[in-house]
Amino acid sequence: MSSVHHAEQRSAPDSPTRSIRELRAALRGRVIAPGDPDYESTRLVVNAAIDHRPALIIRPVDCADVSLVVSAARAYGIELAIRGSGHSFAGHGSSDGGFVLDMSDMHGLHIDPQRRTAWGQAGLTAGQYTTEAARHGLATGFGDTGSVGIAGLTLGGGIGWLVRKHGLTVDDLLAVEVVTADGERLHVDSQRHPDLFWALRGGGGNFGVVTRLHYRLHRLETILGGLLVLPASPTVLGSFIAAADAAPDELSTIAILTRLPPLPFVGIRTSRPAGADGALGLCRRPGPQSAGPCSAVGDRDTPRRGDRADALSTDVCGRGSGP
Ligand SMILES: Cc1cc2nc3c(=O)[nH]c(=O)nc-3n(C[C@H](O)[C@H](O)[C@H](O)COP(=O)(O)OP(=O)(O)OC[C@H]3O[C@@H](n4cnc5c(N)ncnc54)[C@H](O)[C@@H]3O)c2cc1C
Repeated sequence: MSSVHHAEQRSAPDSPTRSIRELRAALRGRVIAPGDPDYESTRLVVNAAIDHRPALIIRPVDCADVSLVVSAARAYGIELAIRGSGHSFAGHGSSDGGFVLDMSDMHGLHIDPQRRTAWGQAGLTAGQYTTEAARHGLATGFGDTGSVGIAGLTLGGGIGWLVRKHGLTVDDLLAVEVVTADGERLHVDSQRHPDLFWALRGGGGNFGVVTRLHYRLHRLETILGGLLVLPASPTVLGSFIAAADAAPDELSTIAILTRLPPLPFVGIRTSRPAGADGALGLCRRPGPQSAGPCSAVGDRDTPRRGDRADALSTDVCGRGSGP
């Protein structure tokens, strides 16, 4: 199979004044313009400080749509922002006055449980992908937040809870399909267009519009996750680092230094699946405080909304007094 595909013969309109009508006619996906009922909600991204007003928001449904939009933006000399799930804190998934190519309607996923690989379209979120893969007892390591887009996360390298055992998300990236700035569709992997593959694995975007990503999956039957709330003292941090260093590769940890908001999950009590004790050992080691239970994901009691953060430090950390 050739690695280069040319876009279907659906040509871009040649004048900005005719653009909206003609783009709507030419594309299979949606075109959302100022004044449309859902324009105000679709223009928003996760960071509420970003208040851009794009000229058009376009939701492609296939690679031909993507090629067409890239060609139209190039023909008009208009800025093109690519949006996966809108989590870029800098607002790179939006544009003031330009086109936004919003990939969220391209969210197909094909999992091959035998080969332990998956092809996912670029509009998938980490949560959508992970939920489907988990039905097969499989996982690819993404980040800590299910609503983040797989493409944006992967193109930035991708660091998450499986990082110590399986590496960054790009370590499990096998191939990518991409529409380049001149509208070509390329299949990119370590053999075909290796320089572009290298750039896509951590370069952060702007090497073309990624339409599909091919990942390796790992067998993962049980996940344990937990939160320890401890005073941010040098002793606690020092012993946390030592304990994390000594922990097995199955355990990835993140230290977050923050003032505690009132957390909704205060007071959660969970049962501990068999075999959990090894991983939970870290919970007992970090500092002078003895830790209580870590959570087994998917096995939670009902959270008690409104419980206070200082209660969390007592309940979860035994003798902790909170930061
Ligand atoms: C709450 C939160 C938690 C996070 N947690 C983690 C974490 O645990 N681990 C981690 O590694 N990162 C994490 N991040 C960072 C996140 O991975 C990046 O911000 C990522 O770019 C977000 O992707 P998106 O699709 O959601 O964002 P968008 O704003 O939609 O996209 C960001 C940029 O990515 C590029 N991009 C997206 N899709 C495509 C595409 N199809 N083709 C080409 N370029 C594309 C574009 O340059 C785009 O402007 C987190 C961010 C937030 C806000």
